[in-house]
Amino acid sequence: MSSTAGAGGVPAITLNDGNHIPQLGFGVYQVAPDETAATVKTALEVGYRHIDTAQMYGNEKGVGEGIRGAGLDRAQVFVTSKLDNGFHRPDDARRAFDETLQALGTDYIDLFLIHWPLPTLYDGDFVSTWTTLEDFKADGRARSIGVSNFQIHHLQELARETGVTPAVNQIEVHPYFTNDEVRAYGTEHNIVTEGWSPIAQGKVLGDPVVIRIAKSLGVHPAQVVLRWHIERGDVVFPKSLHPQRMKENFEIFDFEINDEEIEALTALDRGEAGRRGPDPDTFAYIAD
Ligand code: NAD
Repeated sequence: MSSTAGAGGVPAITLNDGNHIPQLGFGVYQVAPDETAATVKTALEVGYRHIDTAQMYGNEKGVGEGIRGAGLDRAQVFVTSKLDNGFHRPDDARRAFDETLQALGTDYIDLFLIHWPLPTLYDGDFVSTWTTLEDFKADGRARSIGVSNFQIHHLQELARETGVTPAVNQIEVHPYFTNDEVRAYGTEHNIVTEGWSPIAQGKVLGDPVVIRIAKSLGVHPAQVVLRWHIERGDVVFPKSLHPQRMKENFEIFDFEINDEEIEALTALDRGEAGRRGPDPDTFAYIAD
């Protein structure tokens, strides 16, 4: 895994398939479909060149419109989407993937993920879902493929059963839930960790340790936490609907936090008690 400075000073990380991903992007979870095009356009104007969406978010169409609305070429923006939980069977996955490309208005996607492993559904079979994603990569419509919310034993099963190592594993990571064992497995096996809810949906910003470090550096609490992720080598894509916060979250490459500060933030980990999202070993939600 290596990184080099890319557009807007955002480092580009090399994935295990040779492709590059901007280490900082913009997430659109819970952005209303009819607000997504304008929100994405604003984020691109701020400087973001990486958008993280999902079939489940219902706003892929707005992401495509936002990119076109910003006057950017498709190749200038790294786009990720994720397979919805109801579509793990190979035929459904193929149909859903076609619909993703159609909604985005593009003939390829930079990164496509299995959103959740759903080990209690589909007879525990996520391997056939994964090999279907391998087909999307082989035919060039997905430049890179990966997984999300996979625990170590899910990754081990994929390694045993299939030939392609996921390029990324997108998991919950923030100072209250550092998820370091899954991250370490990724590092060992050349799987880049993407940290979702990087600022714990705002909940970590009032922490006295975060505030102390922010004050000493003269930056905002969100910038401290995002910088912590960057220093640890993870990819992040904070979400905000406000241009000022989008800008704040983007401006994290002109200061550094030192080892002591990184350790103090990492020590905020609360283990499982700090997890905000569902437990990947039991999560089994499928929309009606
Ligand atoms: P986040 O940690 O990015 O927090 C977003 C919230 O924090 C915003 O709604 C806003 O209220 C607040 N905020 C943002 N910037 C701020 C700032 N500078 N100052 C003060 N408050 C600020 O949470 P998220 O949206 O859950 O996660 C980011 C992205 O991760 C999502 O948009 C999505 O793309 C991805 N995600 C993936 C999964 C998954 O299962 N793979 C799950 C959740 C999120």
